[in-house]
Amino acid sequence: MKLRLLSILLLFVASVGVLVWLYDGKAFTPPKHSRSSWHEIIVDLEACGRLKHLKARQYKHFAEIAAAEKRPDAERLFRAIAFSEQLQEQNCASAIRRLGGSYTPPPEIALFGGPTDRNLERCLGIERYRFGKRSDAEIRRALSRENRYAARLLIWAAATDLREIFLLERRTGFETESFAVCPGCGNLYSTNHLDHYCPHCLTPGEEFVRFEKETAEAPLNVPTIPR
Ligand SMILES: [Zn+2]
Repeated sequence: MKLRLLSILLLFVASVGVLVWLYDGKAFTPPKHSRSSWHEIIVDLEACGRLKHLKARQYKHFAEIAAAEKRPDAERLFRAIAFSEQLQEQNCASAIRRLGGSYTPPPEIALFGGPTDRNLERCLGIERYRFGKRSDAEIRRALSRENRYAARLLIWAAATDLREIFLLERRTGFETESFAVCPGCGNLYSTNHLDHYCPHCLTPGEEFVRFEKETAEAPLNVPTIPR
């Protein structure tokens, strides 16, 4: 009889132990997907980063077409733009992480491309259209939240989009022209009009990544950014 009572008591203690363990486990489970207080800014940076990713892929594809067509002038410009876009995507991604979010690039996309002259025309049309549609709401949002860090990146991104339009507008006159990209912010230059310092981020001009006219001794520099 005593043995039976003892078994019941032990069973009761064990049940209570299991209940306490389950309760504690539930109580101490970290909250899933806790929302950063910078959520809206992170969404804006993510949209910017994803667009930059798609542009970098597309311009790289145009550069490959230009290389196959033996159009080194257009190849230099496309490669410089692709590099600039990739840098800006990286800047957006690291800003998102610093603000408590996570960044995932968009999945594979269908790239388009025809002959180089048509690609240049098409890019200019798309960039102009996209820029004309800008509302800059994301920049105002970052400024209104006093997040100057995010606002600065978004302003740099918009300024570089405009710079691309200027360079694409001169698409028929750059046979001898080379290009440079600021490694800090992705600002784009024609080497005919280089600044001593990047006006966006104050990186010295000698650190700019050059996309120079190719020679037998110096083939076109095609830098990549480690991910
Ligand atoms: Zn810069």
